[in-house]
Amino acid sequence: MPELPEVEVTRLGVDPHISGKTVTAVIMRRAGLRWPFPPDLPDLLKTKTVLRTGRRGKYLLLFFANGTLLIHLGMSGHLRVVPAGSPAEKHDHLDLVFGEQAIRMTDPRRFGAVLWHDATDPLPLAEHALLKKLGVEPLEDNFNSELLYQATRQRKSAIKQVLLAGDIVVGVGNIYACESLFKAGIHPEKPAYKVNRKSYLLLAQAIRETLAAAIQQGGSTLKDFIGVDGQSGYFQQSYFVYDREAQPCRICAHPVQRIVQGQRSSFFCKHCQK
Ligand SMILES: [Zn+2]
Repeated sequence: MPELPEVEVTRLGVDPHISGKTVTAVIMRRAGLRWPFPPDLPDLLKTKTVLRTGRRGKYLLLFFANGTLLIHLGMSGHLRVVPAGSPAEKHDHLDLVFGEQAIRMTDPRRFGAVLWHDATDPLPLAEHALLKKLGVEPLEDNFNSELLYQATRQRKSAIKQVLLAGDIVVGVGNIYACESLFKAGIHPEKPAYKVNRKSYLLLAQAIRETLAAAIQQGGSTLKDFIGVDGQSGYFQQSYFVYDREAQPCRICAHPVQRIVQGQRSSFFCKHCQK
């Protein structure tokens, strides 16, 4: 599933091909994915220029003078840059054409979404139903350990669950939560309100480093955004604990443990994480 780093790498990959460029056609090959596509999308976008790209949580944002296009990659979606008019395959559902190039949205499981927020909407984009409950961006300056500490004083649920909830900080999915908690030495089942300031300092740093490293690693695959070879911008990292049940901890060599929290696997080292 695309996580924040994959979405950011996707943004970095498509941005040079679309920022400042004008949409010449919109090709919708089905009525929608998770939700219907805006039926008037071709009218909204044709002859309009992408002013810039952005991202909020896992939503990719394309800013136009007349509104903002929100793209979510769902469980299996990705975007590629293709020559305009190149033959579409079964799961290629949407093309935004910019003259001789297009960005093509492919999504086999169809949990992705493409939504329009019109500039005339009285509600600001930040108040959009899908965006307004999102926590702070982990790679921006307003994310820090004091925010984590203050926001968790009443939170009795496990720190891992609080990270995944996304209402304090976005983008810390299962892999990155496991890895960040390991680096910070925090047991995933520790109640969030019991984690002290010093541990939150380590955790905030670990979250930033883990996500930044994933984005940097994904950036090395950016060339794959051009071409027709399919899978773009997703990448495997070497993890400390994630998906390493029973293998030796890379720090202390004790076997990595797996437990299930909220139907998700948590991987941790009981020796290194308290
Ligand atoms: Zn260990």
